[in-house]
Amino acid sequence: MLSLSPNELETLSQRLGADRYRGRQLAVWLFKKDVYDLDAMSDLPREFRSRLAEEAFIGIPEVERITPSQDGSQKFVLRLADGARIQSVLMPDRDRLTLCLSPQVGCGFACAFCLTGTMGLDRNLTAGEIVGQLAAVRGALGPETRVTHLVFMGMGEPLANYEATVRALRLFTHPDAFGYSPRRITVSTVGLVSAIQKLAREDLKVNLAISLHATTNAVRGKLMPVNRGWPLESLLAACRQFPLPVRRRMTFEYVLLDGVNDSPEDALRLTRLLKGIRAKVNLIPFNDWQDSGFRRPPPPRILAFQALLLEHGIIATIRWSKGEDIGAACGQLKEPRRTEAVSA
Ligand code: SAH
Repeated sequence: MLSLSPNELETLSQRLGADRYRGRQLAVWLFKKDVYDLDAMSDLPREFRSRLAEEAFIGIPEVERITPSQDGSQKFVLRLADGARIQSVLMPDRDRLTLCLSPQVGCGFACAFCLTGTMGLDRNLTAGEIVGQLAAVRGALGPETRVTHLVFMGMGEPLANYEATVRALRLFTHPDAFGYSPRRITVSTVGLVSAIQKLAREDLKVNLAISLHATTNAVRGKLMPVNRGWPLESLLAACRQFPLPVRRRMTFEYVLLDGVNDSPEDALRLTRLLKGIRAKVNLIPFNDWQDSGFRRPPPPRILAFQALLLEHGIIATIRWSKGEDIGAACGQLKEPRRTEAVSA
C-alpha cells in the first residue's frame, strides 16, 4: 500500500466498499503518522480494516543491522520481502539529516571505480520498496528525528528503474503523502540520456546530479561503460535542455582518481564542458576498496583541482565522504545477495 498515492488509496477504499475519505485517513496513518499496523488505525471501521488486510499489503523493509560511523552517519542494512538486501545511509550535516536511498539491488552499469558495480544487477526495487526505506529508517529513528533531505545515491541507478523511481518521487513530494519539498530531493544518474530527457518532461522539480567523472570520451568510456552508448556530447546536450527552476543548479559529480582524471588539463576541460550550464561541481575524492586498482589523489592535488574550477567561476565543493570507515561511502555499498550467503 505504501506505493499508492492518496488518490489511489481513495479508489482502493471505494473498491472495498468504503467511502473515499477512508483512503485519505489511510494516507494520514501511512505517510504522516508512520503507522503500518492496520489494528492501530483506530478511526477506521473494523470491517474495512479486515477487508484491507485481505486485499492489500503494507510491506516495510526489515532493519537487519544499523552500523554507526565515527562521523555520525549510519548505515542501515535492510532486508526486503524476498530476502534481498539493500543499504540506505543516513548522513547528518549541521541542521540537515539526509537519507541516501537505493533504487536497485546491485547495479548493472559496472563503473570501474565503484564497488557496487562489481555486484551486477540483481533486480529493480518496487516504488513501495524505495519509499519503504524511508519508512523503515523513520521507524528506527522514532518521531523526534526528522529526515530532511533525500538523495537517490545508494545502490543502483534510479533512471534505469524509471517508473518506480518517478512513482516514489511523486509520493515523496505529494503534500498528502510524505510532503517533501522537491528542492530537498536529488536524483543522481550515471548519465542515461533518454531517461534524462523523459524526466525533464515530468515536471517534478527535483534536483538532478550527473555522475560525470571524466572530461574526454576516451577516459569516460574506460571508467564508465555507459559512455559508449551515451557519450559526453549527448549527455551535456541533455543537461543543457533540462529545465532548471530559478536559482537552482545542476550538480556534476566528479570522483577524483589519482593520475586518471585529476590533472590541471582535466580541470580546464571541465570548465569548458560546463559552459552555459548553471552547474555546481561536487568533487568526490575516491573512496578506496580492496583491489580497486585506483587511488585517491594526494590532498594538494585535490585542492588544486578545486582551485582551478573556482578560478574559472565554477562552484566546486569537495565531498569528503561520510561513512568511509563502515563501507557506507559513495561507491562502497555492497551486500551479499541473499540470507543463505551469510551464516547465522
Ligand atoms: N547510479 C547513480 C547513483 C549512484 S550515486 C549514479 O551513477 O549517479 C554514487 C556516486 O558515487 C556516483 O557519482 C558514483 O559514480 C560515485 N562513486 C562510485 N564509486 C565511488 C568511489 N569508490 N569513490 C567515490 N565515489 C564513487
